[in-house]
Amino acid sequence: MQRALVAGGAGFIGSHLCEKLLNDGYAVTAVDNLITGSEKNIEHLKSNPNFSFVNQDISIGNLKLDIGNLKFIFHLASPASPNAKSPNSYINHPLETLRVNSLGTERLLELAKKDGARFLFASTSEIYGDPTVSPQPETYFGNVNPNGVRSVYDEAKRYGEAITMAYGRTYGVDVRIIRIFNTYGPHMQKDDGRVVSNFIVQALNNSPITLYGDGSQTRSFCYVDDMVDGFCRAMFSENTNREVFNIGNPDERTVAELATIIKEAVGSSSEIITEDLPEDDPKKRRPDITKAKSVLGWEPKVNLSDGLAKTIEYFKTV
Ligand code: UDP
Repeated sequence: MQRALVAGGAGFIGSHLCEKLLNDGYAVTAVDNLITGSEKNIEHLKSNPNFSFVNQDISIGNLKLDIGNLKFIFHLASPASPNAKSPNSYINHPLETLRVNSLGTERLLELAKKDGARFLFASTSEIYGDPTVSPQPETYFGNVNPNGVRSVYDEAKRYGEAITMAYGRTYGVDVRIIRIFNTYGPHMQKDDGRVVSNFIVQALNNSPITLYGDGSQTRSFCYVDDMVDGFCRAMFSENTNREVFNIGNPDERTVAELATIIKEAVGSSSEIITEDLPEDDPKKRRPDITKAKSVLGWEPKVNLSDGLAKTIEYFKTV
């Protein structure tokens, strides 16, 4: 049985990826230090004999990952929320975020080199910063503040991309990068401050929905099942070595529109209030997915209302 390693396997997207890989017949090892992930996300996988979990920070100490028949390494380990109000955000874990995307990436690339495994680095639309081009194609170099509060994530991911490609060019490691755009679904952390989870939790509690700024900034929201399908196609398709793919849903909405959609979907009596816009908050974000469509045959299938309905049901249970 071929084994896949999922770094960040107890996180939101990582836990769904572990489940899909197990269903597709792979043995899966998840590694996570649970800084922002949760063992609850993988509880249902633990009875599967092909699944194992290692609680470790991949950035430090001896990696306890000497596992047999390792063929695929997915690196998703990183805090990912920019919300300074949340203790789980990368703003509140700046050095851990820098390390896991730099040292952590290098150590997993070394493992890929040693074991001859394929490697996938989970990058982010944040590497485009506050884009001056929309939608953003993979060829756009971005507009990033190199030392602002978000730089600990944006620049760390940019470094992660650079070292991933360097291992490909220098050592011939079989590498690919995907840039994740805003993603939502079950297993999002209730309190990590992302817009979808915040709005749903607020709407379910009939408490104020907090719109940051005037809500005219845009995001494009991808349901997690579509995202995980993109991960698998990028890893397992043959023509992906040293390629970069945007994976996200081009269905662009203003954040104000999202607040109204969620309020109505929940049937909530919440009022919508405004709070200050966070520093360096991108004004727009929308993926150009032409490349993923043509090379991977990938495009998102779940529309916003269906995905939100499933996510709302999940948040009723946690
Ligand atoms: N946002 C908001 N209210 C919230 C949380 C977030 O208006 O309670 C806004 C945030 O300022 C940003 C957008 O929603 O413009 C998306 O934020 P999120 O943290 O989910 O992800 P980002 O795309 O900024 O990484």
